[in-house]
Amino acid sequence: MAVDQYLFCPQFVFKEPKVFSGDSIYNPYKNFTSQDYVKSNFHAHSKFGLGITNGEGLPKDIWETYEGLGYVFHAVSQYHKIDKFGEGDKKYISSYEHGYNLRKTHQLLLGGDRVLGKDYIFPQTLNQKQYILSRLAQDTSNVIVLNHPDLSSGYSERDLKYLQYYDCIEVLNPTAQSFAHWDTALSAGKKVFILGNDDLHNIKNRNQIARFCTLVSSPTQSSTEALASIKSGSSIAMWLPQVHNESMDDKKNKLLSSKITLESIDVKCDGLVIEFEEPVDSLVVIGQNGKVVHSSSHQQHFNVPFGKDCTYLRVEYTTKDGIRYFLNPLFRYEKQLYSRSVAGTAFVSRKPFKVAEAGFFFGGWILVVLLFLWRKKWWSYFSNFRMYLSI
Ligand SMILES: [Zn+2]
Repeated sequence: MAVDQYLFCPQFVFKEPKVFSGDSIYNPYKNFTSQDYVKSNFHAHSKFGLGITNGEGLPKDIWETYEGLGYVFHAVSQYHKIDKFGEGDKKYISSYEHGYNLRKTHQLLLGGDRVLGKDYIFPQTLNQKQYILSRLAQDTSNVIVLNHPDLSSGYSERDLKYLQYYDCIEVLNPTAQSFAHWDTALSAGKKVFILGNDDLHNIKNRNQIARFCTLVSSPTQSSTEALASIKSGSSIAMWLPQVHNESMDDKKNKLLSSKITLESIDVKCDGLVIEFEEPVDSLVVIGQNGKVVHSSSHQQHFNVPFGKDCTYLRVEYTTKDGIRYFLNPLFRYEKQLYSRSVAGTAFVSRKPFKVAEAGFFFGGWILVVLLFLWRKKWWSYFSNFRMYLSI
């Protein structure tokens, strides 16, 4: 396995990243209508297989529990298996978590129809992470999410300057909140959007339910709309205040009474203009290199400079019920917004596999092992001879 991972994994040439630039501004909330937004959780595990993986409860329990809390989309994401519970329902979203490796370099695949078996078990290099993402992206119908990148250093911040062929980052997860990773990717001009998930492993433990959530725009509550919303960045991530052992009824009331409050967000006359239905408790605007460019509280209307040198701005705000909302960035681009595969081809290319090079390394390894064995044998002869002389 180590030989396959470290000697035979394809190598890539990564171009230096380019910040967002251009006269056009991409606004994922261009036609924002808060009534179209519904709650979703895309990352949940149930008991599965022989129980080797960590999961309690059944897929049906996950579906029903989230449905009872008013969620519209609630995927079951087993490791390396697409769960079929609810298939046929227009709210069903196929999902699985990819990755069986020591550093928890995991990906969430939404809307796909096949499972990739390949992974590298030992700590992965940038090339190996890129290779797995490129393979996952061969299924062009899926949404690829980097799960909890800050957990166990599954992905480093540096990785996110270079990696291509994915769509989103699970910034909000109970085990890791990976804002620095997200801002690193955005600062490197990568069009990647936020996801917030419970990543629960026991549906019977209510402390694991409804902590993080993704709001997607889906007027007719269909999975196609939900996936399109995630991929275009019109989604919003939600971080709910946690109350230990909160009853399910209290959770439900908290969720049902929550209000996005956002009315509109747009760039006008070199300014990011944000309007709310009522004052929000606090609001922070973040830009290039994760720098806070604006912060204020108890206001309803905001106008933050978005000059020619401004690459992207993203907004976080807290409503009076203590819920934190995270919007996707508005960013600059030139003539055209690139798709996952076009951007991938532009910034990363595969080096041709050189048989001579691989043979040289493989031969080197064999030589090292032989020398080691030979030396051990030689040493045992030497020890025996010394013993013989000392008699
Ligand atoms: Zn995971």
